[in-house]
Amino acid sequence: MKSQPSGPGPESVSRDPVAAGAGTEPPPRPLRALTAPVRGRLTVAVGLQAVAALAGVVPFIAVSEIADRLTATAPADGDDLWPPVVLACAAGLVALVCGTAAGALAHVADNDLQLALRRRLARHIGRLPLGRLTERGTGEVKQAVQDDVSALHTLFAHTLLDVVAVLTAPALALAYLFTVDWRLALVGVVPLALGVFLFGRAMAGAATQMAEFGAALGRISAAAVEFATGIAVFKSFGRGRKAHERFVAATEGFADFFSRWVRTTLVSSTAAVLVVAPAVVLLLLSVAGAVFVTQGWTTGAALVPFLLLGPAVAAPMGVVGPRIQQIRAGQAAAVRVTELLHAPTLPEPAHPAVPDGHHVRLRGVSFSYDGRTDVLSDVDLDLAPGTVTALVGPSGSGKSTLASLLPRFHDVTAGTVALGGVDLRDIPATELYRRVGFVLQDVRLLRASVADNIRLGRPEATDEEVERCARAARIHDRVMALPEGYATELGTAVTLSGGEAQRLSIARALLADAPVLVLDEATAYADPHSEALIQDALSALAAGRTLLVVAHRLSTVRSADRIVVLEDGRVTEQGRHDELIAARGRYATLWDAQSSADDVREGSAR
Ligand code: ADP
Repeated sequence: MKSQPSGPGPESVSRDPVAAGAGTEPPPRPLRALTAPVRGRLTVAVGLQAVAALAGVVPFIAVSEIADRLTATAPADGDDLWPPVVLACAAGLVALVCGTAAGALAHVADNDLQLALRRRLARHIGRLPLGRLTERGTGEVKQAVQDDVSALHTLFAHTLLDVVAVLTAPALALAYLFTVDWRLALVGVVPLALGVFLFGRAMAGAATQMAEFGAALGRISAAAVEFATGIAVFKSFGRGRKAHERFVAATEGFADFFSRWVRTTLVSSTAAVLVVAPAVVLLLLSVAGAVFVTQGWTTGAALVPFLLLGPAVAAPMGVVGPRIQQIRAGQAAAVRVTELLHAPTLPEPAHPAVPDGHHVRLRGVSFSYDGRTDVLSDVDLDLAPGTVTALVGPSGSGKSTLASLLPRFHDVTAGTVALGGVDLRDIPATELYRRVGFVLQDVRLLRASVADNIRLGRPEATDEEVERCARAARIHDRVMALPEGYATELGTAVTLSGGEAQRLSIARALLADAPVLVLDEATAYADPHSEALIQDALSALAAGRTLLVVAHRLSTVRSADRIVVLEDGRVTEQGRHDELIAARGRYATLWDAQSSADDVREGSAR
């Protein structure tokens, strides 16, 4: 079953980080890069929207022309009025058609972009090291796939066209007003200029304030999480008030900051909104227009376009705030999505090979999460097929990290982990996961039926096989007590306890039938009955397999074929229980400490 004579040794493998799938540098302008595939359609949509906005101004100009002709010294007859009427109707129609087409095109382009982005994200996330996903949890993925893609939708399907419309229409209106009466047009520009000035003042220092705003919100959510997770502990020690003190302090801090910010910008931002308000602009133009007409500087008919179009000139200022906010949100979303898309993926095998047997061999393995401090240093370890190896050691000594290297949650920083003589990095993912299974403390159950949850590793398994594994994992009786037995949906009406979920995941691993298993033993079981059931389930799992157990309780490792003691990421002792006790080394000390702790617990339980 081997495609290569023997697995390459550590030195013989040359690993090119780029070919191997290391992350590439994100492009300098993420927004541009992301939209490249739909840029053509977006450009056409922008063009159509500009035409629509410009055409939308034309009927107002036509009405002004009609007013002008009707009030001329030689009043126009009906035939003279037709051309502007026809022009107004035609322009209105063009505005409607182009505006609708622009909106539709932008939405279609955006739809394709969303689909393509979500597919790219899903493909990429599927190739990320599992360790990365458990580290950051599902939050980052949900943010990118859902929230960030939605922010980009708002930007491309709505904000972009809005911005085009609010910039082009006033430009044409202003240009026309200058041709009618440049002095009155200058008056019409005053609110816009004032609005820009006041808005600029209100936004002064906005970048720092926004950063502080984000930080203050971050403090609130951190305090909220702390509050929610720690409340039980605080309450059980009779300090319920203490639990929410930090949360209250964070919210008060935020309220103080926010009211200070609002106070300093309130006057200028309110004034900015006021001066560009249509009623204010209309009032200004009416008064100025009346003066101009009474002084004989202009005609009454010339006032019409100012009253119709004047308010539109300053209007963009009124919507600039929310649009800037949407553009910033879109840019930030593009940065996050791009970063995720460029996160290093698990390198594809340079020389794909299939393992020969299930002997696991670690040689000179070092690993570092941050590239600076080694969490594991120079670990050599052999897991012979069909044996149980227990990893013990103080908390933080690197047990879980070492175990996570076998299912390739991370790749080693130095050295090799080989299965059946082949470096894990040369084993295609599907081949690896057929051979290496894992049961972790943090059991993930899907929102699916119990049977489907068990079937995850082998979807084609029959109902009988599912039940056989559930019985072996001591979860069958519990499943039968559920409202719809194996068809019961998990996560909605029914939630399993920690111990039950663990047994379900053991049933899942039994069915998947991987010959090598990594097991992170749960630290706390709800009750002795549940613990006994889990121990039974684990024995069923261990039969005939190569098992690596991260053992948090020494009582469960007594019968292991080999116990490996880790300290500060190094193997300091290994052997069988009796040998290690006789050696009176580190294991013996740990054993004594835990035995006396267990005695105390049992004593107090009596
Ligand atoms: P153990 O299982 O023996 O308690 P771990 O393997 O969980 O130890 O942790 C070993 C060291 O690695 C600890 O110092 C821990 O803080 C660090 N560590 C564990 N997981 C991560 C991670 N995802 N990112 C960075 N450091 C980590």
